[in-house]
Amino acid sequence: MIEVKNLQKTYRSHGQTVGLLGVDFTVPSGQIVGILGENGAGKTTLLRCIAELLPHKGTALLDGKPASAQYERISYITGEGSYYPALTVAAYGQLLADLHPAFDPARYAKFLEFFSLHGSDVIGRLSTGQRARVELAAGFAKRVPYYLMDEPFLGKDPFTRRDFLKLMSATLTGEETLLLSTHYIEDVEHFLDRALILHEGRIAEDLSLDTLPAGDSLLAHMATACHWDPQRYLQFEDE
Ligand code: ATP
Repeated sequence: MIEVKNLQKTYRSHGQTVGLLGVDFTVPSGQIVGILGENGAGKTTLLRCIAELLPHKGTALLDGKPASAQYERISYITGEGSYYPALTVAAYGQLLADLHPAFDPARYAKFLEFFSLHGSDVIGRLSTGQRARVELAAGFAKRVPYYLMDEPFLGKDPFTRRDFLKLMSATLTGEETLLLSTHYIEDVEHFLDRALILHEGRIAEDLSLDTLPAGDSLLAHMATACHWDPQRYLQFEDE
């Protein structure tokens, strides 16, 4: 279970306080939760605070303990790609296997094959989307109870995104808890149990997707929660 209480990480920007302004929620084990919201809403800040990668106020506990006390039980995955450009994909896997007891080389190999990556590929010579595929394969090769995924689909084509979600669903046992931040709402909508929609550093809506009536869409909820004005562009039209 994830228990987040009054989690805050604030920054000053142009006279305003931005970042994560105080969020509270709990996630039972086994739930797949979308962390959604417009650019700058606070999604990355929230995930980084939960992972204890940023100093913050308030608490974020996973099974009663902070992430920093149990990194072997957590996989933090971003779409930014690997930080080891000189390594081959195979050497990167070996490094992770040495560092993390929960890293499963067979699962890494399966995801590499799925993504058409080869062990001899040098990470720094891969395309943006291919590097992000390596990161996703590496992150998912860890068999852990908690996956914190920050826009893992960045730079991935629509077919890769959909195939990966299907493979991920097939791979999970149902006991893992996943927080997934993404802008690819339509791709993940049917994969999520629940969505936390952030707006300006706070939770604007906590939505159960199992109970979403037919005809109602997650995107429509996001538009309302984010106060999206479809006519706003008119103010910026040339005279
Ligand atoms: P996106 O969808 O664009 O990735 P996000 O929801 O992940 O956005 P965050 O990266 O969490 O948003 O940023 C939330 C707010 O905090 C933004 O206003 C951002 O400018 C600000 N912020 C984040 N990190 C810093 C920092 N290191 N210094 C100053 N401000 C920051």
